[in-house]
Amino acid sequence: MNVMDIFETMEYGPAPESATPALQWIKEHQPFGLFINNQWVVPASGQYLESINPANGKPLAQVAAANSADVDAAVAAARAAFESWGKAPGHVRARYMYAIARHIQKHSRLLAVLESLDNGKTIRETRDLDIPLVARHFYYHAGWAQLMSSELPGYEPVGVVGQIIPWNFPLLMLAWKIAPALAMGNTVVLKPARYTSLTALKFAEIVQEVGLPAGVVNILTGEASQVGETLVRHPDVNKIAFTGSTDVGRSIRRATAGSGKKLSLELGGKSPFVVFDDADLDSVVEGVVDAIWFNQGQVCCAGSRLLVQEDVADSLISKLRVRMEKLRLGDPLDKAVDMGAIVSPGQLKEIQRLVAQGVEEGADMWQPSWACPTEGYFFPPTLFTNVSPATTIAQVEIFGPVLVSMTFRTPAEAVALANNTRYGLAASVWSENINLALDVAPKIKAGSVWINCTNMFDASSGFGGYRESGFGREGGKEGLYEYVRPAWEAHERSKQASSTNGAATPGDKALHGTQPVLSGDDDEQANGHNVWRVGDENGVMAALPPIDRTPKMFIKGKQVRPDSGYSRDVVDPQQRVIGQVGEGNRKDVRNAVEAAHAASGWAAGTAHNRAQILYYIAENLEVRENEFARRIVQQTGRPLADAHEEVQAAIARLFSYAAWADKYEGVVHRPPLRGVVLAMNEAIGVIGMACPDEYPLLGFISLVAPAIAMGNTVIVIPSQQAPLSATDCYQVFETSDLPDGVVNIVTGERDALCQVLADHEDVDAMWYFGSADGSKQVELASAGNMKRTWVNYGHARNWLDSQQGEGEEFLRESTQVKNIWVPYGE
Ligand code: NDP
Repeated sequence: MNVMDIFETMEYGPAPESATPALQWIKEHQPFGLFINNQWVVPASGQYLESINPANGKPLAQVAAANSADVDAAVAAARAAFESWGKAPGHVRARYMYAIARHIQKHSRLLAVLESLDNGKTIRETRDLDIPLVARHFYYHAGWAQLMSSELPGYEPVGVVGQIIPWNFPLLMLAWKIAPALAMGNTVVLKPARYTSLTALKFAEIVQEVGLPAGVVNILTGEASQVGETLVRHPDVNKIAFTGSTDVGRSIRRATAGSGKKLSLELGGKSPFVVFDDADLDSVVEGVVDAIWFNQGQVCCAGSRLLVQEDVADSLISKLRVRMEKLRLGDPLDKAVDMGAIVSPGQLKEIQRLVAQGVEEGADMWQPSWACPTEGYFFPPTLFTNVSPATTIAQVEIFGPVLVSMTFRTPAEAVALANNTRYGLAASVWSENINLALDVAPKIKAGSVWINCTNMFDASSGFGGYRESGFGREGGKEGLYEYVRPAWEAHERSKQASSTNGAATPGDKALHGTQPVLSGDDDEQANGHNVWRVGDENGVMAALPPIDRTPKMFIKGKQVRPDSGYSRDVVDPQQRVIGQVGEGNRKDVRNAVEAAHAASGWAAGTAHNRAQILYYIAENLEVRENEFARRIVQQTGRPLADAHEEVQAAIARLFSYAAWADKYEGVVHRPPLRGVVLAMNEAIGVIGMACPDEYPLLGFISLVAPAIAMGNTVIVIPSQQAPLSATDCYQVFETSDLPDGVVNIVTGERDALCQVLADHEDVDAMWYFGSADGSKQVELASAGNMKRTWVNYGHARNWLDSQQGEGEEFLRESTQVKNIWVPYGE
């Protein structure tokens, strides 16, 4: 073809990237070993796995197949390295991370080509997106390493982190995992996906090049059953960070339940791409290409559901077909190619199966007229119209280049359709009306919302899901908290461990209460009158009459009888009955959840209003301070002065969260683009919570106040031992203008009620402060709809202490970050 011919036809010529340096690198290194303690190690099994080039189906490399002995060795290396890396000054870690970023840039072309060969994605994407973002991630987190001591005071690294990543963005996912972990002083054992290990192995070489201390990063290739599962269950791993399918995420949640391992899960999605009729349709078409055909649709946040306003649907679909006809699919190393290969024959089969099912279910399928290459694993861009929202292809993550389109009439219908999914990872909203777009964005339940753009990522802006898309964030400051824990926690827990071994500790008084000062009158008790005497602040003895009233449940702002018709005794520390509360059951919990959902308008109201109500609750509590203090004494046997201190602390806590209600708002990021990202702290929704036994009032207020301050509605199981301080709050709430259903209280057997709450599909998060066993049950049961959990594994905290009992940790647990991307400029 000569120049004239090209001008005549405007055909693309081939623009191949050479594979030679990458193939040479592979040849020099294979068979690849495991990377443990900065050494290349022969796998204990002596076995190797074949890595295939999906663009031609031919073998590419031999990588080691690790087994559990290798996992033990890698974890031991990481543990040993943690001793010094975890204590190294932030500046030291920052220097290493800066060096890693520089080396990634120095090897950027090799990494880009390796990634294309191993995964099948196009060189345009690996060169222009994956690898630059990898470098950016290390630069950005080098900054957080430098700033950790000043910006995250009171936090320390978690320890040894097990990281498991998928095949769709092999090196980028590695960077998203390793960069924040190292920045915060953790050490790492990482398992790449079975199909795509090569760039992780090149990364290991970079680790050696920059002289990172041995054992800080360990990389184990191999099978999920040998490496992934062993890592997840390993007793010396303190945290698991996982990206992959929701099913595996759920099994990891179950496997780690009750172990005390921190966990972050970035799972699947079925993200809506919402187009209003005033959108610029030509831009929308390019947006759709990016949303669903980028990386062959093998993207967790792919805009796989196109929701179009009815009056422009036909016009958009015909524009899309024209564009699809022009997409170029083929050799991933050709720089003029738009779409590469599917990662594996198994994945290709799964896409084919789901597409066939879509056709069977009655949707109309359309594909361009050109044919795919016959060598390698390719699938053409595919568009489904006439799709009903309940069909498989509209609900299931296909993870391939398949777009399903549906229509809507009004913005409210668009939001309802967008949220009609069990996932909540991302969404795009297209409209030239910024008022409309910014109104709709917060209503879509998703971790990232892109306005007039799609698939935007940056290290500064956290990424992660709502609902079954997982929990935790990667990137941004919020992502750092996945890799740290409050420093007091380890200290407090080791104190508690030694105190259960018999050693008395100064914290005992605050945590477990002192001996009762209540004195029983034996004669009156013998007469069945139970009149107890209590010393007040002035040492005057006052008679405290017996209490025999039965507080009901508090649901939807009303005091309602327990469905069971049973009550349970509440006893004092001497096992004397001091009252009864309702025995809650499954039905009461269901009613409470329904009430909490019906009160969802609470989050939509102003933060100012929520603050006012919290102040008002504090004011009304103060009016009844003596009554509440006496109740604490009665239930716990603690001195009255102590009890007054607890009531005052509860009032102060309400003030704190009233103060925070309109201040924990989020930030504006300036990523490298023309535009801004609004990182908004949003309420999680409906939170179920079990209160601690220590501090019956303060424990209850410390959990309820931050949750409602941030706009959540709650179902509270008060302390099982001492529920009366919570039930006494009914009247306080009733007189404080708290809307019905924002706080619902169900008394009864804590662990049984928590099980119902954790199983409930309409509860978005569970907080549990009780036993180690109960914590495990909550984590296990919450795997059903992947609720976020916050449990104490049976470790008490000092609720009077403002570091342990209030603050940012509570606010963070009450919120999830939504990043709204707003590019600007013509
Ligand atoms: P998986 O979730 O199975 O794999 C992700 C990672 O987890 C891989 O490293 C895998 O190892 C490992 N793994 C698998 N099972 C376990 C386990 N039981 N314990 C510990 N680690 C485990 O995803 P697939 O690759 O099988 O893809 C299946 C589907 O998942 C896709 O079709 C897509 O729908 C979804 N997916 C979603 C992703 C996302 O980013 N949200 C990414 C990838 C897939 P190994 O590679 O050795 O199997």
